[in-house]
Amino acid sequence: HLGNETLKAQLGHSSWHLLHTLLSRYPKRPTPSDRESLRTFLHLFARLYPCGECGQHFTELLKKYPPQTSSREAASMWGCAVHNRVNERLGKEQFDCRGVVDKYKCGCDDAEEEDAK
Ligand code: FAD
Repeated sequence: HLGNETLKAQLGHSSWHLLHTLLSRYPKRPTPSDRESLRTFLHLFARLYPCGECGQHFTELLKKYPPQTSSREAASMWGCAVHNRVNERLGKEQFDCRGVVDKYKCGCDDAEEEDAK
């Protein structure tokens, strides 16, 4: 039986992984529809995140730091910065955001080959 804190940490770890990977695959040149989709996704993600206080805090962060949707780089750097705000609140170390786009690979070869062009 895993304690609540362990489960919360596992959920957080997987959620951040998904979020950073999603942002590292976001289009380099997003259409208006891509931008609206990301903005909406992040607000719904915060609203539905299954840990009351976490989602609530994340909603506050979204208000304070509106999602940057203008490019892959901007979105990834934004994701790294808000994760750092959460790290700060939890007394965790700050993460170095340089190279965050390259750190999170999706394992989808076609997309990564496309990038190499
Ligand atoms: P995590 O913070 O889960 O990070 C996982 C890995 O990502 C790290 O090992 C590192 O390699 C990398 N990483 C770290 N920082 C960054 C960064 N800035 N950018 C990119 N990569 C990075 N927990 C609570 O107790 N209270 C809360 O209010 C709370 N709010 C949360 C809100 C959201 C939206 C999410 C997704 C999670 C929240 N959590 C909260 C969970 C918490 O953030 C951690 O996920 C959890 O404590 C496990 O931490 P961890 O040490 O495994 O590292």
